[in-house]
Amino acid sequence: MTRRLFAFARWRLDPTGVPMTRITACQTCPERSEPSPDLVVVGRWAMAHAGLTGHRGFDEITTASLRASLEDGPAVAGAQGLTEVVR
Ligand SMILES: [Zn+2]
Repeated sequence: MTRRLFAFARWRLDPTGVPMTRITACQTCPERSEPSPDLVVVGRWAMAHAGLTGHRGFDEITTASLRASLEDGPAVAGAQGLTEVVR
């Protein structure tokens, strides 16, 4: 028989410090800008793409790098915001 111990852990989510990047993606075709942290750069790509193709709808996709880590302190069973972990 296999035995498992279940506990509840408190997690936090923090930015990693990696700069946020943006992409503009055409809603009509599969083309998209190169990733850039600069909104002006990806905006210029969208306007150039609109001028060349007539495609006018775009999605701005922003990526932020996050890292989950366990918080110190006692785990509390059943508390809100806690995640069940298997040890
Ligand atoms: Zn397009």
